[in-house]
Amino acid sequence: MPTDYYAVLGLARGASDSEIKRAYRRLARDLHPDVNPDPGAKERFQEVNRAYQALTDPDKRRIVDLGGDPFDTAAAGMGGNPFGGAGFGGLGDIMDAFFGGGTTTRGPRSRVRAGGDALIRVELDLDETVFGTTKDITVDTAVLCTACSGAGTAPGTHPATCSTCAGRGEVQSVQRSFLGQVVSSRTCPSCAGTGQIIPEPCPQCGGDGRVRARRTIPVKVPAGVEDGMRIRLTGHGEVGPGGGPAGDLYVEIHERPHAVFTRDGEDLHCRVTLPMTSAALGTTLSLKTLDGETDLDIKPGTQSGSVLTLRAQGAPRLRATGRGNLLVHVEVQTPTRLDAEQEKLLRELAVLRGEDTAGSSRETQQGFFSRVRDAWNGH
Ligand SMILES: [Zn+2]
Ligand SMILES: [Zn+2]
Repeated sequence: MPTDYYAVLGLARGASDSEIKRAYRRLARDLHPDVNPDPGAKERFQEVNRAYQALTDPDKRRIVDLGGDPFDTAAAGMGGNPFGGAGFGGLGDIMDAFFGGGTTTRGPRSRVRAGGDALIRVELDLDETVFGTTKDITVDTAVLCTACSGAGTAPGTHPATCSTCAGRGEVQSVQRSFLGQVVSSRTCPSCAGTGQIIPEPCPQCGGDGRVRARRTIPVKVPAGVEDGMRIRLTGHGEVGPGGGPAGDLYVEIHERPHAVFTRDGEDLHCRVTLPMTSAALGTTLSLKTLDGETDLDIKPGTQSGSVLTLRAQGAPRLRATGRGNLLVHVEVQTPTRLDAEQEKLLRELAVLRGEDTAGSSRETQQGFFSRVRDAWNGH
């Protein structure tokens, strides 16, 4: 509820001007801090003074009589409006004016406000995300104006109290609406709600207290980061208006695709192709991993599609110890374009292994069906 300024002076609503003056003089004499040592007297004295001001100024008194508070800068609920006051608009304003909502007393807003966060992307190669790195990144953000240290004033000058709102940051007016007369308050258009104006702005920042600047800062990328992760650099974002505290800078990791390895969290995957003979006979391959050359042991009889696991050759675990694995997917190539001698050798091999299907297809098919039947019956 708004303060009942009549009650503060011990009066009933609608008291006359002379009654108001008389009540004020009596109370002011009793409560004046020079004569009254009571600790509560000073606060009460200020209250009485405010009530007197509210009831002796015709405009303010009209606001009081309409149920508003002429000193309540938040009466119309305009707080937080990014467009600096849209005037009298919403039904909420009317309700506030009539029923006294939004009585939180709020002074002028500060010219100094916190800065926003900034986001920058950085592209890294796989070995950089896996092993970590330090990258110099160039950011373009608002930084503190060095000429005025954020004050926004030209050297040797100072901000002045806004004359439009007398430093309150908001202006109140009484307007007609379909409900009758209502009180509304809005952000002061002259000072954007700060209660201050800068008569001579700083020539370097134009009064904003900050300037845009490009700078290069080193960013430490921890081992094991993944694509899309963000590294936060506290206080490296945008400096706020009036030199307000800077927001944070977020560095978003983008991992470039690698020619050989694909990544799945902490595991890496790659594919090797083997000639059929190597897969059958076994061999040792030299594989170039992110850690260097390593021997990959292909056992005799390795099947296409089998996966060989190289333990702890993947990416480090970001929130634990150890590393993921490197999974090598084996693909066996069937030989094509056989010359006559190769074909002859393969046929001989097929006969030796009982795999020759050319001359005895019926038997083989029967064998195939009997195997399927056995499998079906659980043999
Ligand atoms: Zn400046
Ligand atoms: Zn103003």
